Amino acid sequence: MLDIIVVGAGPAGMTAAIYARRAARTVLVLEALSYGGQIINTPDIENYPVEAHISGFDFSTKVYEQAKGLGAEFKFEKVVGIRREEGAFVVETAKNAYEACAVILATGSENRKLGLEDEQKLTGRGVSYCATCDGNFYRRKTVAVVGGGNTALEDALYLSDLAEKVYLIHRRDSFRGEETNAARLMERANVEIVWNSNVTRLLSDKRLTGIEVTNKVDGSVRTIELNGLFIAVGRVPENQNFASLVNLDEAGYVVAGEDCHTSCEGIFVAGDNRVKTLRQLVTATADGAMAATEAVKYINSL
Ligand code: NAP
Repeated sequence: MLDIIVVGAGPAGMTAAIYARRAARTVLVLEALSYGGQIINTPDIENYPVEAHISGFDFSTKVYEQAKGLGAEFKFEKVVGIRREEGAFVVETAKNAYEACAVILATGSENRKLGLEDEQKLTGRGVSYCATCDGNFYRRKTVAVVGGGNTALEDALYLSDLAEKVYLIHRRDSFRGEETNAARLMERANVEIVWNSNVTRLLSDKRLTGIEVTNKVDGSVRTIELNGLFIAVGRVPENQNFASLVNLDEAGYVVAGEDCHTSCEGIFVAGDNRVKTLRQLVTATADGAMAATEAVKYINSL
């Protein structure tokens, strides 16, 4: 039996693995896709101590190699459920079942959808949730970004270096994202900000050809011809598989304080999928350290 299973290989989960290994505990990290989590798509991280600029990919790869170097095991299998059995937790993936004394949930979150007709059908055909992954397809073309948080602002900045024209569509008249990003964006000649507006329809002919945008203040409807639409309207926590084990709040985040303890003894939570006021890289890694330290204390008390 393992000491600790970490579910999720984002910054929180991988930091938890580092701390677990430094406490000489066996640790298995289970991840559905690839290491890195949400941050892997960020082109330039400027607010994490030590490095003034680092890409999300380079950051994630360094943390992954650090955890592996310390002896953490990684398996790329999606966790479908967790159950308690004779003092241990059984973590089930589509292929296998693993046993551990303690579990750390570091599953992060997934892209929020706009909920528009054909949104899913057009994903990969002009609709994207990742500017750094797909931006290159839109060199010298016209694109729009939806959202007003840091992701939307950074996506719009990134795309404005590639595309001919970038519309940024936000439902309010001020941004949620950082002032520095907003100020940089305002200086870009090829960026047009469409305030107080929602995308209300996707126009297509096999691929996305444009969008219909409705102004919330005066009700006017505008059609914008586009090649690509980047949706960056936040994230939703990926905790559905654990709802019967740990308490979630109304929005689906695991209820836990700074000590990362959940309502189920032996299960800890780290990162963006827990209730917290600041979801940043630095708070995710801090959670990973805390959750692993608390998990080790729990195992020592058994
Ligand atoms: P976010 O901060 O939650 O912002 C989501 C944005 O989408 C908000 O502006 C919101 O509008 C808008 N929105 C939500 N639902 C919508 C809908 N149905 N239709 C239209 N607009 C909608 O999400 P995020 O930008 O992905 O950032 C998530 C966290 O990661 C944040 O804490 C952010 O600071 C952090 N982050 C940090 C960095 C960095 O430090 N380099 C980079 C990226 C993200 P309202 O403003 O009206 O609510």
